[in-house]
Amino acid sequence: MIFTIETVSENETFEAGKRTALKAKPGDIYCLDGDLGAGKTVFAKGFAEGLGIKEPVTSPTFTIIKEYPEGRLPLYHFDVYRIGDPSEMEAIGYEEYFFGEGVCLVEWSELIEELIPESAVNITIERELEKGNDFRVISIDREGIL
Ligand code: ADP
Ligand code: MG
Repeated sequence: MIFTIETVSENETFEAGKRTALKAKPGDIYCLDGDLGAGKTVFAKGFAEGLGIKEPVTSPTFTIIKEYPEGRLPLYHFDVYRIGDPSEMEAIGYEEYFFGEGVCLVEWSELIEELIPESAVNITIERELEKGNDFRVISIDREGIL
């Protein structure tokens, strides 16, 4: 089953991320997919705040991963947009993060689909331009999270 919510501002997407984090458990992996500018990083920022992370969260596009250890659970924020091949994930040592005690957020997970565990939560953010520039539909394959 897919559950959806609609947001009409950056802040509403941020708040959805924050709510999601309140329910996060050690070892959770949240995949964040959707086009460039959809709002994946906005969601991630809200998620970080929900974990109690004070450090500013920035897009890890060039570093692939950023770690935020200070919150209720360690957060590993991935953006795999620039991964040329899933084997580059091995070099980063992704398994330590995916199968560790922290929480992983993975922007552009579709690019490394074969590495994503079955148990991961899938979140997709889509625009509907006819409903305006700031309208987004956020879909998730789990009940009671968003
Ligand atoms: P992504 O990480 O998916 O590439 P970002 O989160 O970096 O995208 O950027 C999303 C952009 O869209 C931001 O500039 C944000 O202000 C804007 N925006 C407008 N409406 C929304 C909304 N409803 N939810 C999230 N972002 C929105
Ligand atoms: Mg991003």
